[in-house]
Order: sequence, then C-alpha cells, then structure tokens
Amino acid sequence: MEKKNIDWGNLGFGYIQTDKRYVSDYKDGAWDNGRLTDDANVVISECAGVLQYAQTCFEGLKAYTTEDGRIVVFRPDLNADRMIDSAKRLEIPVFPKERFLDAVEQVVAANEAYVPPYGSGATLYLRPYMFGSSPVIGVKPAAEYQFRLFATPVGPYFKGGVKPITIRVSDLDRAAPHGTGHIKAGLNYAMSLYNIVDAHNQGYDENMYLDAATHTKVEETGGANFIFITKDNKVVTPKSDSILPSITRRSLMVVAKDYLGLEVEERVVELSELKDMAECGLCGTAAVISPVGKIVDHGTEICLPSGMSEMGPVTQKLYDTLTGIQMGRIPAPEGWIKVIK
Ligand SMILES: *Cc1c(COP(=O)(O)O)cnc(C)c1O
Repeated sequence: MEKKNIDWGNLGFGYIQTDKRYVSDYKDGAWDNGRLTDDANVVISECAGVLQYAQTCFEGLKAYTTEDGRIVVFRPDLNADRMIDSAKRLEIPVFPKERFLDAVEQVVAANEAYVPPYGSGATLYLRPYMFGSSPVIGVKPAAEYQFRLFATPVGPYFKGGVKPITIRVSDLDRAAPHGTGHIKAGLNYAMSLYNIVDAHNQGYDENMYLDAATHTKVEETGGANFIFITKDNKVVTPKSDSILPSITRRSLMVVAKDYLGLEVEERVVELSELKDMAECGLCGTAAVISPVGKIVDHGTEICLPSGMSEMGPVTQKLYDTLTGIQMGRIPAPEGWIKVIK
C-alpha cells in the first residue's frame, strides 16, 4: 500500500479530507446497513434537529502504525460504549457497539494510505458522530438520524517537544450537576468557545472548570481530564458525575497502578489542595498528556514544582508507558489494542 505524499512530521491538528468515510442512516425506527462513501458532504434539511436544537454527539480516537508495522486502534470499544451513553442522554437512537467497531475497521482499512508511518509522531484521527437529520421545529427528538465516521491525519500535538501550559481557574461553568457534562455532546463544546477564546486573549492556554454548585472542587478543562501527582507520588484524579470519563485518563490510572506500581485515587479534589501538588497534567486522546506548569486562580499563581520547561518525572513515566503501549513497544493489557491489519 503506497502512502499518500504528506509531510507527516509537519501536520497540524486540522481537517484533511481523506478518501472514504462511513455513513449509516436511521429511518422508520431502524438503522440501514451502512456503507463507505467518497462523498464528504452532508446534505440535510434546513430544519434538521441538529441545526435547530443541537441534537448531536461525537467521539474521538486514533489509529496508529506500531513499531512492527501493524495498524491498530486504541480501546475503540470504550468509545463505542461512551457514544451509546451520549446517544441515550440526547434521545438519539443507539448505534450498536459491534457496528461502531465495524465502522472503525472499515474506515481505517479504506484510508490505509493516510495512516501516518511509525515514528512520525502523526496519527490518523477518527471522528464518529451522530445527529438528528430530519426537520424539527417543535422541541422534540428528530425522527431520522445519521451516524458518520471520517478519518483525518493529524500531527503530533506538541511540535518541537512538549511544553508545560498555563491554565486559569474559570469563573464560568462547563457542566451543571445532573446535566450533560458526562456525555460527549456537541453542546458542551459550543458553550465553552466563548470562555476558551477569552482565556487565550488573556494569555492562558486552558480553563480549569470547578464544580458549578460550590466552585471549590476541581472538575476538568473544556476537553481534557486532570491528573495530579501528590508530593508522596500518588496519582490522583477528580471524581465527579459531571466530568466526561476520558479513556486516556482511565487508561493512565491503570498504567500508574499496574505498570508503575503507584497508588491511585479517584476522589474529590479541592481547589485548596492544588498548591500542595507536585505535578499536574491534562489527559485526552489528542495530546495523551499535556503537562500543566502553572495554575492561576484570580491573581494567585500556583507554580507546580515540575516547572515550565518539561513534564514532571511521574507524568513523563505515565506518558512514555501509555504511548509505548499504544505504539506496540510495551505489551498492552488484554483487549486494549484492536489490530486492523
Ligand atoms: C473527549 C473529552 C475528554 C478526553 O477523553 P478521551 O477519551 O481521553 O479522549 C475529556 N474531557 C472532555 C470534556 C471531552 O469531551
């Protein structure tokens, strides 16, 4: 298979159209058989449910070339499960797990020429999503839906090496108690855009969201979960019903415990504890871990001892081990790696 002529090492995190995507339509109460298509455009009613009332959810995962030249996907079964949870909460009909996994396999195989080579730092990002496609004007769920899954090659998140970021404690909220923070709904991102643009304008890389009810507990950022390393080397991640359950973060907790022998805790993390943490990182599919060097809480600076020039030592070990598992350099736990070919 001849690869596309792409400068893999200089790819950014943007959309590049690839050859094939998967589409399945839901009509008259059932999903059709689904198919791969060359058509990258979606044509829907001007009154479609997604356009009027944001009835849509999505997922994000990656395909990689491993050290021994296989093409693999990392834990796609968890993305399938999470999309089922998102769909249920948004009154979107569930797309069956086996069909989700089959769509992943078909799209990666059909776009094999776009899977970046091992060692390039680039990956093939996969974007499954679902939306209400039929007209809705009175507020109710749409009658018809589309499931789509496309692929786009993306570069390493940190070009020229990882650099710790600076985040601010946000005054605005991401997710209400008993709301939709725990599902991957497009609406959670739409309402975060104002705040991230503002953060960037003020010189911060990200927003740290607190629990909406009391503004005393750490939740997550707009698109990544937190892990903290305490001064006695425990790996701590915030527990809350309004956090999106990151697959990267859940995997890192397993890596910390089973591969690195560290103590792990998923528990409430108070804002007031942050000054005592040794390291902090943001976890998500895009960057795996982005190290946080500084947290600014309304003029009070919390400088993590790991500093602004490199990842903290424990964060680095977690990062190296998880990426080693993903790239096939380190044996993976049972079921974590789905081999496409
Ligand atoms: C997608 C997402 C994450 C990261 O989840 P991964 O499964 O690790 O990619 C974290 N927080 C939010 C709000 C998200 O939407």
